[in-house]
Amino acid sequence: MSGSQKLQRRTETIGRDLLARARRATAEAPAGEQWLRDFMRQLGEDERFRVRALRFIDVLPALTGDRELARHLHEYFADGDFPLPDAVQWGIRHAGAGPLPHMVAPALRKVVEWIGRRFIAGETTDEAFRAIEKLHEQGMHTSLDLLGEVVLSEAEADAYQQQYLQLISTLAPRLEKSGRQLHLSIKVSSLYSQITPLAPEHSAEAVKQRLRPILKALRQHNGAITLDMEHFDIRHIVLHVFRDILMEDDFHDWADAGIAMQVYLKDSEQELDSLIRWARKRGTPVHVRLVRGAYWDMETVIARREGWSCPVWKEKWQTDQCYERCLKMLIDSHAWIRPAIASHNIRSLALAMALMDKAELADSAYEFQMLYGMAEPLQHALVDMGRPLRIYVPAGPIIPGMAYLVRRLLENSTSASFLRMAFIEGADEKTLLTPPKSADQKAEKPDHGFRIEPAHRFTDAAERDAFAGAINAVRNNLGGHDPLIIGEKQVETERRIVSVNPACPNQIVGTVAAAGTAEADAAVTAAIQAAPAWRALGADERAGILRKAASTLRTRRDEFAAWQVFEAGKPWREADADVTEAIDYLNYYAAGAERLVAGRRMDVAGETNFYGYIPRGVAAVIPPWNFPLAITCGMLSAAIACGNTAILKPSSQTPVIAAKFVQLLLEAGVPAGVVNYLPADGATTGEYLVTHPDVHIIVFTGSRDVGCRIRQLATEHMNEQKHVRKVIAEMGGKNAIIIDDDADLDDAVAGIVASAFGYAGQKCSACSRLIAVGNIHEKLLERLIHATESIIIGPPERPETFMGPVISAAAAARIRTAIDEGRQAASLAHARDVNIPGDGFYIGPVIFTDVDPGSALAQEEIFGPVLAVMRANTFAEALYIANGTRYALTGGVYARSPAHLRQAAEDFEVGNLYLNRKITGAIVGRQPFGGFRMSGTGAKAGGPDYLLQFVHAKTVTENTLRRGFAPDEGD
Ligand code: NAD
Repeated sequence: MSGSQKLQRRTETIGRDLLARARRATAEAPAGEQWLRDFMRQLGEDERFRVRALRFIDVLPALTGDRELARHLHEYFADGDFPLPDAVQWGIRHAGAGPLPHMVAPALRKVVEWIGRRFIAGETTDEAFRAIEKLHEQGMHTSLDLLGEVVLSEAEADAYQQQYLQLISTLAPRLEKSGRQLHLSIKVSSLYSQITPLAPEHSAEAVKQRLRPILKALRQHNGAITLDMEHFDIRHIVLHVFRDILMEDDFHDWADAGIAMQVYLKDSEQELDSLIRWARKRGTPVHVRLVRGAYWDMETVIARREGWSCPVWKEKWQTDQCYERCLKMLIDSHAWIRPAIASHNIRSLALAMALMDKAELADSAYEFQMLYGMAEPLQHALVDMGRPLRIYVPAGPIIPGMAYLVRRLLENSTSASFLRMAFIEGADEKTLLTPPKSADQKAEKPDHGFRIEPAHRFTDAAERDAFAGAINAVRNNLGGHDPLIIGEKQVETERRIVSVNPACPNQIVGTVAAAGTAEADAAVTAAIQAAPAWRALGADERAGILRKAASTLRTRRDEFAAWQVFEAGKPWREADADVTEAIDYLNYYAAGAERLVAGRRMDVAGETNFYGYIPRGVAAVIPPWNFPLAITCGMLSAAIACGNTAILKPSSQTPVIAAKFVQLLLEAGVPAGVVNYLPADGATTGEYLVTHPDVHIIVFTGSRDVGCRIRQLATEHMNEQKHVRKVIAEMGGKNAIIIDDDADLDDAVAGIVASAFGYAGQKCSACSRLIAVGNIHEKLLERLIHATESIIIGPPERPETFMGPVISAAAAARIRTAIDEGRQAASLAHARDVNIPGDGFYIGPVIFTDVDPGSALAQEEIFGPVLAVMRANTFAEALYIANGTRYALTGGVYARSPAHLRQAAEDFEVGNLYLNRKITGAIVGRQPFGGFRMSGTGAKAGGPDYLLQFVHAKTVTENTLRRGFAPDEGD
């Protein structure tokens, strides 16, 4: 018999024993268990019920009033045929009326709390202590985990740290007295609110500062700790913290520290290998808790949505196989690693025992770990077999702990869940103990349509280093000069525009020539001359050139992003997203123009009909500075993809990035004269251009005032023109987010901060109004203010910076005036002085409360980091306030009431509505972007109708009947 056969035999023997003991314990379980098991089964069997039930459990903590709870119950469950007892169905259907809410709601809360307490050990330290002691008496060890909300601010991170310290000082001595050890499990993300994959060193330093006192206190009390592993984005930071801190003098010889490793990650063996090497170097062993991983759904969905390669195994059997490989690695390294096998999978447990026994590991050299309240029969079976077992015990208020609970329930009701197989469906031993087998991989669902250019994830060191390298390279190239480009010529002028770094105005990013009206005339002439050949080239050839430009931009994406860091003051992520959006526009419009120009045939017998499109002529493209590459590229590429020629008048705040892009287009093969580069300062040249009789389309994005003026100017000189000029004007916004009283504040606060203060509020889609419904106002404001206090403001070059400067001294002055005026009209709830060396145009975030919805603060676009908070008594009133401005660009709602979400979708008057997510960051092809009312007149950018604005439709009809004969068109 081969070694592996012997191992399998041994595994099966142990597994059968384990299973038999567990099934005996199952039979002894109390009656309530049966109900819970039935409930789990129903969750697993009916996908619709599962999703509704989990979402309902998720919102429940926010529903403090009985009527609210009854209303939600009705909204979630009244319209379906769910596997619930008739009486319950009846109750749900009638829950909203009469005295029923006051009967239904308390009963339901009791049931859910009962389920909650099944998985959460207790709300107070005393309750937790009692639960732990009970487990200890049953021969188990424990690891305590403090549950709570997501940490959004430094105040919340401080509070977590204090909670841990308090727990250690009260619990550890009590446990020590009875000869037991306090073992904590801790989430690194609860110790620093601004943790970011972009800046692992910075994030790790901040975490370590709060972690150090916890470790010291634990060590003093002979306690132990495991760092939990969280989602993929911060895994490198958790590992960084772990390795760094355990090499410090105070901890390098401490053997009671550990870390969790997730085997559902495809590179888990590499990471484990490097951890083992590190532990070997350190000398003192560490624990490694081997888990499958609890965020599989989230990791998969996020990777798919963002276009990233998926970090987790696709199939369950792959994870299972990886678990076994990692298990062997751990056991082989038991001199430096103390394996903690955290699993409820009978095969994994049995194999681990077989391997341990073979390696003759002492019981003190390893342990098993399981979750509190889960697979209890298995827990008892392990203890029965004399194996060391630690229970992971979540403790804390049941209500915030619900997020945790939902994850647990999710894990255990999916069809792949081992628990269901073992105890609910009664799968046979053979199935349970067979080694995980490779199966055919399910085919990927085809990705329909357009594929976006993925943003950097920044979890990879090489990606971060390349980006930092590009910033350094661009820094060394600042201060150059770009002339105008008119036809084939580079044209110098006497006047120059000086572009400076808004974070450090003494630093000149570059200079460009400034065009006057004579140069504008020359540019129009060049565009007219280039037009026939460009049109004749055909849509496919033109699309080919645009795709080539997209591919060059892809290879130079970090360089282009770095220019924006310096010229537009964009932090890393914002700069990167601007470039990927530009790449998307090039590809999207290339494909769109090909489709459009192909036209449509509508022939009948004796007659051919062709419906096609022809370019309009010469386009004046006038972008803003805030998306200096994306919007410039979008408007310009749409125009030329359709066969028009163009004159680009960039914003005078960001002319350098525009010059680089025009050069890239020319290098990609755009012929001379098709794109002319015409920066100009002041309004004269721009206005000359928009009134020029030979300009056919004006493609403008910018402020409402300028947009309206351009529309007006565009009607001038009509008598000298042979055409009616087309004006596409995308303008400003005064965008609102509504926070309903049942919203998830963890999500909502993060979404508000990103929407209101990302890029210092200088996005047309930014949130500048916040409307809180009902009594969520106080809690929302408290968390929001703390979260806002915590964001990192600084030079955009630094990876950890969340918010940089505003674009110019003039913008800063304008924003300050608006803030001063706001102080007279509303209460200032938050403002921050920013003292960053270098005279940058920094303005700290500002939050006003008690804002009158009709005041200037709530009506006028400020275009800076200023947020006006208002209250509404009802959701309908919130919608009324939200709709009460002249703008209609973006809007958002955080709510968990299906009825309110539907109402928002119908009645919120905006071009782009976002439900339960931030309101910035539209993606080409997925969220076509643009507003109506005074927010714009165009069709949506990055959408299916956008290109129609750049063409005339033309019908060509030919009578094919000649003297009674017509060619057979084969209909
Ligand atoms: P802006 O209106 O000041 O300038 C926009 C462009 O118009 C610039 O290139 C500018 O040089 C040019 N311009 C200014 N006056 C002109 C004139 N009289 N004639 C011809 N051209 C003239 O806007 P901005 O400060 O660059 O950008 C911020 C504004 O843009 C905000 O209001 C924002 O909401 C809006 N914006 C809207 C969208 C959208 O898609 N709706 C997108 C981004 C920005």
